[in-house]
Amino acid sequence: MEPHVAVENRYQSLDAWHEVDSYFTEVLIDEDEALVAARLSGSSTTMPNAEVAANQAAFLQLLVKMSGAKRVLEFGTLAGYSTIWFARAVGSGGFVCTLELEPENADVARRNFVRAGVLERIELIVGPAAASVADLVSSKVEPFDVVFIDADKPRNPSYLEAALALTGSGALIILDNVVRNGAVVDADSDDPRVIGTRTAAQMIAEHPELEATALQTVGVKGWDGLIVARRI
Ligand code: SAM
Repeated sequence: MEPHVAVENRYQSLDAWHEVDSYFTEVLIDEDEALVAARLSGSSTTMPNAEVAANQAAFLQLLVKMSGAKRVLEFGTLAGYSTIWFARAVGSGGFVCTLELEPENADVARRNFVRAGVLERIELIVGPAAASVADLVSSKVEPFDVVFIDADKPRNPSYLEAALALTGSGALIILDNVVRNGAVVDADSDDPRVIGTRTAAQMIAEHPELEATALQTVGVKGWDGLIVARRI
């Protein structure tokens, strides 16, 4: 085999993505015991291993800090791993509202919030996110600065609508898992998660008050990506 082919194959393999993620996570990411425990506790939820990777969580935290956000809304709590990163990003005067369907996941998350020392700045609402967010809209809560959409992907279009109802100018709206091993490019897909993502992407493209981009990611979570949109 020619040397350049070997090099190419090595860097296209899942093992290499893991190795690179592990390297940068070890060098750059400050995950304390509470975050490690929260990440590992994902195995006792209904969706093991579905939390964001540590380096992606740190990226989300940077977005919150760079935008000066103080109020974050999250669709999909799981064990609260990303929620803790958000809660630390907004600081002691900030607030994170996170929406989770499964009571057993919410129980795991609550224990993780206590361990991380951020329980008092988090509101965890248990139930279908569509209903929870409708209540937030009807009770006219203060607008959120950042919305992270990471729950059931078929409902991404309605979660995006809700995010628009709950944000103002300058807010960030982030959608996770938009690449799905490349499945997103299949316009004829009958996968409701792909349809939900493509519909939301089109809504973002057509919305006069949104500017956006999408980034692909490879690493410990395989091949995926996120859309980051900003409200003008
Ligand atoms: N954001 C979490 C993190 O990175 O640590 C991961 C969230 S996980 C990908 C998706 C979560 O959404 C699961 O906990 C699942 O139970 C929750 N979920 C699924 N359908 C939902 C719904 N209709 N309403 C609220 N939460 C839902």
